[in-house]
Amino acid sequence: MKHRPGNNEQAYWLILSQDKLVKLDGQSCLTERKWSELSFISTYADEVIKVGEYRQRNCYVIDLGQEVLDQQNIELINLRAALMSEALDAFNILARAWQVALFLRTHKFCGQCGSRMEAVNWELAMHCHRCQHRCYPRISPCIIVAVRKGEQILLAQGAHHKEGMYSTLAGFVESGESLEQAVHREIMEEVGIKVKNLRYFASQPWPFPHSLMMGFLADWDSGEIQVDGKEILAAEWFDFDKLPLTPQRFSIAGQLIGATTGL
Ligand SMILES: [Zn+2]
Repeated sequence: MKHRPGNNEQAYWLILSQDKLVKLDGQSCLTERKWSELSFISTYADEVIKVGEYRQRNCYVIDLGQEVLDQQNIELINLRAALMSEALDAFNILARAWQVALFLRTHKFCGQCGSRMEAVNWELAMHCHRCQHRCYPRISPCIIVAVRKGEQILLAQGAHHKEGMYSTLAGFVESGESLEQAVHREIMEEVGIKVKNLRYFASQPWPFPHSLMMGFLADWDSGEIQVDGKEILAAEWFDFDKLPLTPQRFSIAGQLIGATTGL
């Protein structure tokens, strides 16, 4: 899992500090540099982790943990802002790097016996040599659904949405539940309606902190909207040509809305 790049290898770097991404002067969050040009973090040489490739170059992550760099020409930006500002092809590598770093931060000790865990060198995992417990990065499946009724789409304002933003319904899959069951349960819990004609649409990793969004299209079957008032503050059927503020199209919510409304 750990990987030391060559001094002269031109690569992309993601540097994390606390819950922020380090942005170097004149660069995007994906810094294109040689390791030899990153002398200000040379003490982290043993912490370099390869997370994949980006534009035909290796991409490495370095997690400074709680350390805040005392450097000029450095800007710290939060992950959500970084994901919105980067090119679409950077989304997956940023999401992956963040989740890998978060996994390592939160698995230093064994959840079963409390001993210190060590990284496995041939797969992305942490292993306890005392009790043999092994952990892999956590991925939390979530369903997200666009519901259609004639020429209208169901959109809701979640408690965590920014002011005025309406989106498709979403929720975590519970233990022992199929994706389809999760869709029917979430929609019933959040807005009190039944849906039919469930069709799988697409998926998207969503690193806040480690969700895998699985998108579905569905049609209204029966029932009137009744919001739960906790997770959902408001929900309405919107005419396709009178949509409120909705998520950007790079997100799966935006894509589901686009696929339903044809806009
Ligand atoms: Zn253990």
